[in-house]
Amino acid sequence: MTSIPIHANDRVFVLTGAGISAESGLPTFRASDGLWAGHRVEDICTPEALEMNPALVWDFYSKRRADCAKAAPNPAHIALAELEAKLGERFFLCTQNVDDLHERAGSHRLVHMHGELAKSRCSEDCGAPPVEDHGVYASLSEVGRCICGARLRPHIVFFGEMPLEMGRIQKEIDRSTLMLVIGTSGSVYPAANFVHWASRNGARAVYIGPERPLNAGAFTAIVEGKAGAVLPGLFVVEESVPPAQ
Ligand code: NAD
Ligand code: ZN
Repeated sequence: MTSIPIHANDRVFVLTGAGISAESGLPTFRASDGLWAGHRVEDICTPEALEMNPALVWDFYSKRRADCAKAAPNPAHIALAELEAKLGERFFLCTQNVDDLHERAGSHRLVHMHGELAKSRCSEDCGAPPVEDHGVYASLSEVGRCICGARLRPHIVFFGEMPLEMGRIQKEIDRSTLMLVIGTSGSVYPAANFVHWASRNGARAVYIGPERPLNAGAFTAIVEGKAGAVLPGLFVVEESVPPAQ
């Protein structure tokens, strides 16, 4: 049985992708053939689609919200929440996922670099902060309005838009000594570059998933398997030794 030792002075940066939620029943884009209602997913999650066909975009994210509400965290989400409970501020989680399964498993020190399904924000970028929104809308007329009057949009980073919280993410990668990357194909940037940034700083980097990612060569080790099967029991956390009297 493989194990990953976590030393007393390690700082752990975790990056998760769609694969960690696959065993909760939320398909990765690839697993669902990359198609939805006859459209390529890449053609729906864009600023252009929001402009030209907001009803289609809202339909897609309403369906995602409904699916997410029915899903529950799996043993992989729970294993990461337990690791955070042991490591405290030596742990940081960055997810590319827009579902809230990490939070529901008990993770706190996390950022959603690609946004969150359970929030909406102004489609005109008026500066109003995102609002909590679990709405599943049958038609565009049901979608709420921002305080400025513009229609709300899903709080999602579309293809071609800037990921969120990059300053904090960069800082956390810079001070990490161990990077764990779970369930992401290594094809979406800048997330696919995180492993290079970490290893440039001398950090160890381990990939966990059933297939080798595109950037496999950059990792120190690869643990092959489904996240929910592999993560529980994978980490061996060394106790810090109290200073000698
Ligand atoms: P991706 O590029 O992250 O690829 C999915 C990866 O998951 C693949 O490498 C696959 O081998 C791996 N995988 C499949 N089952 C797994 C398992 N049981 N355990 C561990 N790994 C597993 O994802 P994508 O689907 O191409 O998505 C692209 C973008 O869309 C990313 O930002 C992604 O996070 C987002 N997305 C999010 C969700 C979500 O929030 N649940 C769902 C679909 C897509
Ligand atoms: Zn507004």
